[in-house]
Amino acid sequence: MLLADAESQLRDLLDIRIRLTGKRSRLVELKKSIGQIDESDRSAFAQAVQALERDIVSALETGEARLTERINELKIERERLDVTIPGRRPRTGHLHPITILRQKIEDIFVSMGYAIEDDREIETDYYNFDALNIPDGHPARESQDTFYTTDGFALRSQTSTVQIRAMERRGVPLRVIAPGRVFRRDTPDMTHVPMFHQIEGLCVDKGITMAHLKGTVTEWLKRLFGEDTVTRFRPSYFPFTEPSAEFDFSCFVCHGSGTSNGDRCRPCKGSGWIELGGSGMVHPNVLRAVGVDPTVYSGFAFGFGLERMAALMYNIDDIRHMFENDVRFLKQFK
Ligand SMILES: [Zn+2]
Repeated sequence: MLLADAESQLRDLLDIRIRLTGKRSRLVELKKSIGQIDESDRSAFAQAVQALERDIVSALETGEARLTERINELKIERERLDVTIPGRRPRTGHLHPITILRQKIEDIFVSMGYAIEDDREIETDYYNFDALNIPDGHPARESQDTFYTTDGFALRSQTSTVQIRAMERRGVPLRVIAPGRVFRRDTPDMTHVPMFHQIEGLCVDKGITMAHLKGTVTEWLKRLFGEDTVTRFRPSYFPFTEPSAEFDFSCFVCHGSGTSNGDRCRPCKGSGWIELGGSGMVHPNVLRAVGVDPTVYSGFAFGFGLERMAALMYNIDDIRHMFENDVRFLKQFK
């Protein structure tokens, strides 16, 4: 029996008591009528009425007592706490695959003596373009590529802006990496999203050459993917580096062979190489913009996107999954 049922039955029983024994009940009518009974029958009639009243009252009291007892039992039952039942295990959170990868890379660079820098995501035209040697009229300044906020301000389209801020704040020599979000006017599809993450690296000192760039990029990729990782640099063009190079590394699945388990290797599409990012020697104009003499100091910079790298490493076929925050997707990564 449920507590609510028992309580409802007790209320019904109190109604019945009023109906059977109350002022307007049949029983009270009978008691009032005793005086009108013939004297010869009156005593027997009165005894019969009293016996009837005793039976009714006793039956009602027994019922009430039983119900009250049951209600008390049910209340104790309801409030009882079984301390031996095991607790419900709280759901543990997981780091986002982008965070996992970013932290791994940060650890590698910190161990190589780099500081981690971060800065604002809305930048002025000066930090977005001018200081990075991107001239007026350059396609990167077009509003179909860049998210302009108010006049003269835009969401940064690359973490290179942090290079300028870091050199202004820390001076040279310096070694920093800048992980952060960047924004581009792209229509989302399997391989493009309008907001993604980049890591930018910058090293400026006396006597820094392209060899330091190649050595550094190769070293951190070896630490991430294994000692047999090979890198290659292909000449390219960026306004803020001269000379500039794109860099690739040997595929971490097929180790450069292009085949895995007899099939065309998926991450490198059978080429054996994975294209990762851009790099180069910091353009003298960029150094001049922060008051560093390019005849005394030189530096290298490199940058790459995290989403594409994470997609390859974790076998994610559509990078949009990384922004949907579906727990079923996220909890696969530890
Ligand atoms: Zn491969």
